[in-house]
Parts: sequence; structure tokens; C-alpha cells
Amino acid sequence: MTRRQYNSSEPRPRREYVGVHFKCCKVYVHAYLNQERTAYVAYCPKCAGKMTIEIRPDGSDSRFFEAT
Ligand SMILES: [Zn+2]
Repeated sequence: MTRRQYNSSEPRPRREYVGVHFKCCKVYVHAYLNQERTAYVAYCPKCAGKMTIEIRPDGSDSRFFEAT
């Protein structure tokens, strides 16, 4: 009974954000695409730590990241 649903009528746009877990302060935030759409950027809301996740050209980016 496992049925996958794909909406293949149009190319799927890249995700607007990915989830990021900041281990420094144990908080979970969303990392959003930068203006150039070359990387996701997230800021730790507690210590203002910055995390940049470069988007891989092969599209094998993960959906979840952890910042140490
Ligand atoms: Zn932090």
C-alpha cells in the first residue's frame, strides 16, 4: 500500500529552505536560500552563529543539516 506521489507536470523548484540544527544552542531553524541561490544561510538565534550550506551542483543536497 505504499504509493508515491509525484507531481511531474513541471520541474520542481529547489526548496526554499532546509532545516538546520545548531548544536551550539540546541535550536532548530530554517536556512533560506541566499539571493544568488547558491547556498542556504542560517543564523543561530541565540549566539548569532552563521551557517552557510553551499548547494551542490549535482543536486544531492540533504534536507537536514547540523552545525557544530
Ligand atoms: Zn548558537
